[in-house]
Formats: sequence, structure tokens, C-alpha cells
Amino acid sequence: MGREMTIAMDGPAAAGKTTVGQMLAETLGYVMLDTGCMYRAVTVAALNQFGDVSDEAAVVALAQQIDMEILSADGFADGRSYTLLLAGEDVTWQLRSPAVDAHVSQVANYKLVREAMVQRQRMIGEKGGVVMIGRDIGTVVLPDAPVKLYVIASPEERARRRLADRQAQGATVEDYEAILADIKRRDHIDSTREHSPLMAADDAHLIDTSGKLPEVVLSEMVTLVGKYKG
Ligand code: C5P
Repeated sequence: MGREMTIAMDGPAAAGKTTVGQMLAETLGYVMLDTGCMYRAVTVAALNQFGDVSDEAAVVALAQQIDMEILSADGFADGRSYTLLLAGEDVTWQLRSPAVDAHVSQVANYKLVREAMVQRQRMIGEKGGVVMIGRDIGTVVLPDAPVKLYVIASPEERARRRLADRQAQGATVEDYEAILADIKRRDHIDSTREHSPLMAADDAHLIDTSGKLPEVVLSEMVTLVGKYKG
């Protein structure tokens, strides 16, 4: 059997990439790599060590030698899609905290932090059989990926989904406006930043998930991928 391909999946925050990306990976027998968790892990480590993320040189040095391990979620029943260990400690649930949401885009804008993460991502992508999810996978990390998907949904729909995810952790409907504002703020930072801004590759397939169940999006993707697998 030939080497399995790598699928690049990009798009803005909370567009449904991780949910459908995980389903697509399971359907194809691939692994999923959510690269956002890597920038989030650097942010967790920086907040724990320095209390903020404003010292670029310190955050870069930390990112370059960070002991980060991403494991499959097997054996956990708490809804996680993977387990992330920082120096052996499970920080999976800290990755999604409001403090990390507030600081991660700044960390992801540091050029040398990106270089360190992209290097790790390419090593994983080279093996094939990966659905790699992020903002710059099709444009920068794996520009030669045979299949590129760019997943979008309206900001309001994305805020509703994020709220639903957070309700399990105690969020209430009053948090909707704050979540919507954070999504719009991150969209702006991610798409206007200097290094590797969020954008669709010229050869990406646009997938709009607004108003669609994940299963419907999955079947669109499986049909598309099937054309490339020949
Ligand atoms: O996808 P997620 O919301 O977890 O990503 C968190 C942040 O990490 C994004 O807002 C973006 O700033 C950054 N990111 C990135 N490049 C990637 C993945 C995520 O800049 N490939």
C-alpha cells in the first residue's frame, strides 16, 4: 500500500475544524494533529513561568526547548480529542482557559515561536496519514499537501458552538457576547498578523459549516478526499 497522504485543514477559530477533523481522521484511519494546541501549550507554559507573554525573547526561548508531548485521547472519558503533556504534566484542560484564549494570538505572532512549532509540525506531516489542523497548514507548513480544506462559518455560529462547548464547564448564555467578541478579536489578529496570516491557500477547497451537522460536513470531506485517493 502506498504512503497515506497528509490533509491540511485551516480556518478561523471555532469553525468546526477539530470536530470534523477528528471525525475525518477516524474515518480514514489517520491521526489528527490540532496545531492550535501547540501554540496554546507554549502560552500555558509562558503564563505559568512569567505570568504574561509580553517578553518575546523569553517566550521564544521557552518555545524552542519546550518538552511537549501530544498523545491520543484513548482511555479518557472526558470529551478530550487528545492529551497534551508539558514536561510530563497533563495540561489538556488548561489549554482552553480564558487566560490562554486572551494571550495565544500574541504568542502565535512571534516569528521564532512559529518557526519552532512549524518545524515540529513538518516532521509529523512528513510521515503521512495525518489530518493537520491550523491556520497556515496549507499555505506555510505543508504547501505541497495534496488535499487542502478551508473551513468557515459565520462568527455568530462559531460563538454559539464555543458557548455550547463551554457550558459543560459552567459557562452560561450571558457569556455569549464575550465569546463572540473574543472570536472576532482573534479573527482580526490572526488574519492581519505579519507572519503566516490566516488565509485560504489558492488551491484550498472552501467548506462552509454554517447550519450543517458535523456528519454532513464529514461526508462532503470524505467525498472530496476520495477523489484524490483515486
Ligand atoms: O485553533 P485554536 O483556536 O486552538 O488556535 C489558537 C490560536 O493559535 C489561534 O487563534 C492562532 O492565533 C494560533 N494558531 C496559529 N497557527 C496555527 C494554529 C493556531 O497561529 N497553525
